Amino acid sequence: MFEKILIANRGEIALRVLRACRELGIKTVAVHSEADTEAKYVKLADESVCIGPAPSAQSYLNVPAIISAAEVTDAEAIHPGYGFLSENADFAERVEQSGFVFIGPRPETIRLMGDKVSAKAAMKAAGVPCVPGSEGALPEDSREIIKIARAIGYPIIVKAAGGGGGRGMRVVHTEAALLNAVATTRAEAQAAFGNPMLYMEKFLENPRHIEIQVMADQHGHAVYLGERDCSTQRRHQKVIEEAPAPGIDRKQISTIGERCAKACRKIGYRGAGTFEFLYENGEFYFIEMNTRVQVEHPVTEFITGIDIVQTQIKVAAGEKLQLTQRDVAIRGHAIECRINAEDPFKFTPSPGRITNWHVPGGPGIRVDSHVYTGYLVPPHYDSMIGKIIAYGDTRDQAIRRMRVALSEMNVIGIKTNIPLHQELMLDSNFIEGGISIHYLEERLESMNSVISIGRAG
Ligand code: ADP
Repeated sequence: MFEKILIANRGEIALRVLRACRELGIKTVAVHSEADTEAKYVKLADESVCIGPAPSAQSYLNVPAIISAAEVTDAEAIHPGYGFLSENADFAERVEQSGFVFIGPRPETIRLMGDKVSAKAAMKAAGVPCVPGSEGALPEDSREIIKIARAIGYPIIVKAAGGGGGRGMRVVHTEAALLNAVATTRAEAQAAFGNPMLYMEKFLENPRHIEIQVMADQHGHAVYLGERDCSTQRRHQKVIEEAPAPGIDRKQISTIGERCAKACRKIGYRGAGTFEFLYENGEFYFIEMNTRVQVEHPVTEFITGIDIVQTQIKVAAGEKLQLTQRDVAIRGHAIECRINAEDPFKFTPSPGRITNWHVPGGPGIRVDSHVYTGYLVPPHYDSMIGKIIAYGDTRDQAIRRMRVALSEMNVIGIKTNIPLHQELMLDSNFIEGGISIHYLEERLESMNSVISIGRAG
């Protein structure tokens, strides 16, 4: 096992990894920007290194600074968390070339899956069902593009091969709008991801977002740890996640889960990963793979009893997976609400000093957050400041526990989206389960029109 791990991330996931390391008796190095010097998890780490000023381009994305921090502290492995450099194949390569272990898949795998065009091709070859769409990247020729779109059938979605974080996508309903949409998305993709390559897919009108968690070791073993339903989204970003997915036949989950585990064995996957699918009319369609730990991993930890972050570390150290598929038993139900520092209904970011932070507790409640009373939410990073996860024997009990937890949670000094979560935990469609990825936006729109009618009146 490793003696010392460097955590190349910040916020709640840095703290999550730190806790996993401490439990395993591994020393930790926290790297941080000037904006995070005072963070408590930085003080909890055995060592800390400032890697640059607040903007992430100069700190959390500063590869040479992170590598030197690992060198001067004599760390053996680097955990990248999620976001930042976690899916950057060049970073993973640099880490390994510098003699450290990258806690994640091999750089080639990250590269294969990071390009959504090559990822889809690889998954198709491995027998994983994909959204119908263009074979490979879109050509430059307008007539060819029109032909491909006609063959798929409108509406279609134009997506950037290098896209991520819900960006670089555009829905097209008619042929008249196609070429403009392609040109705009191409320009955006070039600017945001440095890669103008695009592809096209059938736009599914009312799908759910269902994903399969996998875990693989370096000895050819791979298992899947059930699924998560992440359909509650705004602007393609997840807001609430839960496991298991309500109303989906367990047999269907095991069929798709087995395919994912098999695909992992086929491509020599190592570590934790997530196969993301859209689910419509009883069918699964692969959209992408995330080659890292996910924000929503705790719901899976609750229902399987498996510590995903510790398992990541163990398999990175070369240990064999201690479990077979038969050992993975799903029990109960878990729901996660992402707590964001933002206006709950207008969604404008709300950074600033938190003057009171009181978190809920009780049976089945887990709060993953690095925040404390007096903490200053910096304006430089993602607005997510923590997560509440509620577990129950049944979905109904998990929802009830979440309602109580949200009512106990008290944050003063900044705005958070807790009021939105409180509404959603009382929403009859959410309670029924199985809402589509468009549900939250539709509901927000109807709420806004009610508010504006109210104002006009
Ligand atoms: P990213 O890497 O940016 O997260 P994804 O490919 O995972 O991009 O897509 C993110 C979200 O966009 C999905 O969860 C879904 O809401 C929507 N989406 C993507 N592809 C399609 C599609 N073919 N039809 C309908 N919605 C889609």
